[in-house]
Amino acid sequence: MSDFLLDEADRGFRAEVRAFLQRELAPRASDIEDRQDWSAVKQVVRALGEAGYLRLMFADLYKGSLAKPGLTHATILSEEAAYLNYAFETTIATALSCAYPLHRHAGESLQSAYLAPILDGRAIGAICVTEPNVGSDSAGMSTRIEFDAAMGEWVINGFKRYISNASVADVYIVYGIAAGADPAKAGMTAVAVPATAPGLRFPRNYTFMGRRGCIVGEVEFDNCRVPADHLLGEAGGGFKIMRGMFNFERAILGGSGLGVARSAFDIATAHAQRRHAFGQLLGCKQLIWDKVAQMSWRIDAAELLTYRATKMYDAGIDGKALMKEAAMAKLVATETANFCANETVQILGGDGITKEYGRAEQLYRDARALTIVGGTSEVAKYLIASRDLPQIRIQL
Ligand SMILES: Cc1cc2nc3c(=O)[nH]c(=O)nc-3n(C[C@H](O)[C@H](O)[C@H](O)COP(=O)(O)OP(=O)(O)OC[C@H]3O[C@@H](n4cnc5c(N)ncnc54)[C@H](O)[C@@H]3O)c2cc1C
Repeated sequence: MSDFLLDEADRGFRAEVRAFLQRELAPRASDIEDRQDWSAVKQVVRALGEAGYLRLMFADLYKGSLAKPGLTHATILSEEAAYLNYAFETTIATALSCAYPLHRHAGESLQSAYLAPILDGRAIGAICVTEPNVGSDSAGMSTRIEFDAAMGEWVINGFKRYISNASVADVYIVYGIAAGADPAKAGMTAVAVPATAPGLRFPRNYTFMGRRGCIVGEVEFDNCRVPADHLLGEAGGGFKIMRGMFNFERAILGGSGLGVARSAFDIATAHAQRRHAFGQLLGCKQLIWDKVAQMSWRIDAAELLTYRATKMYDAGIDGKALMKEAAMAKLVATETANFCANETVQILGGDGITKEYGRAEQLYRDARALTIVGGTSEVAKYLIASRDLPQIRIQL
C-alpha cells in the first residue's frame, strides 16, 4: 500500500517512466555524478523532451497518450529521476520552474522563443531569485529591473547566486525590483533573459558537497538589456508570479525527496538481508529493524503528503489554498530523504562512506541540499503554522 493515492493510470505511468529512465538515465548517471558530464545531461533532457515528458505539467500543450497529464505525473517523473540521480532531476525540475511562468505569463512570441524549446528538451531554463544578501527573505532582493522608455527595453542590474543551471541555461527568469518601491515586493518585476543578452555574465560556478551533476553558479547583470516584450505578466506583478511558482516547485521537491529516500531505503534493506554480523544476518537485529521501520513509515508519510498536494493541484486547488499542503509535502519528503540517507550510511557501516561500495555516500551528500533549496525546512514550517494560526501575523 505504498502508493495508495495513486490510481491505476498513475501506477502505469510510473512503470513506463521508470523503464524509460532505466534506459536513458541509468547508464549515464555515473558520468553525470563523477565527471559533471553536461553532454550526458543534455542527451537525457532531449530524450525526455522528445518523449513528451517535459510537457506533463502543461495539459494544454501535452500531446501524448495520458488521459490526465498534470503535476502528479510530473512529480512521479521527478521521483523516478531522483531515485537514479538527484542532480539530473534538479536540472529538469529547474527547467520546468522556468517553463511554468513562461507558460502562465509570457506572450506568444516569448513562448515560441523560449517555452517550446524547453518543453521539447532542446533548451534549458533557470530561475534567478537568490542574492548574496537575500535567500529565504526573497522579497528583500536588491537587483533592479527598470524600463528604459527611450530604448523600449528592460534594464537589469544586480547579482544573483546559487542559480541552478547558471551558464548552461538558454533562458533565465529574473526577479528584481524598481528603485524606491515600498514595500519592495510591490515593485517586483519578472523578465525573461536569454543567455545571449548583452550585459549578462557568469562569474563562477560553485562546488557543492552533493548534487554534483547539476551546475550551480553566479549570474551577474551589468546594464543587461532585454526587449519590452520580455516582461512576464505586468510590471510590479513579479511577487505574485514568484509566489505562484512555489506550490508547484514544492510539490515537485516532494518527489525529489521521495526518490532519494527510496533509493537509500532499497540499498539499506538489500544490505541488511545480505550482510552477516554476530552469526546472523544484519537484518535479524532489532536495532536494524527499528531503522528500517522508521525509514518505511516516513517514506509512506512523505508519499501520501506529496501526492495529496499534487492531486489537489490537479483538481484545480492552488494559491493560498494549497500553500500548507505543498509546504508539508516538501518538508516531510526532504527531511525523510536526509533521515533515510543517514540511516542507510549507518546500516552499511564502512561501506556506507566509501565510493567503492555503492551510492550510499552520494545519497547522503545529495540529500543535504533538499532541506535548503526551494525554501528551507524552517520556512516551510512558518508556512504551515501561518495557516493554522490565521489570526496571528509574525515578523519572520
Ligand atoms: C544547490 C542549490 C541550488 C539552488 N538553486 C537556486 C536557483 O536555481 N535559483 C535561486 O534563486 N536560488 C537557488 N538556490 C538558493 C536557495 O533557494 C537558498 O539557498 C534558500 O532559499 C536559503 O537561502 P540562503 O541560503 O540565503 O539561507 P538564509 O536565508 O540566509 O537562511 C540561513 C538559515 O537561516 C534560517 N532562517 C532564515 N530566516 C529565518 C527565520 N525567520 N526564522 C528562523 N530561521 C530562519 C534558514 O531556514 C536557514 O536554515 C539554490 C541553493 C542551493 C544550495
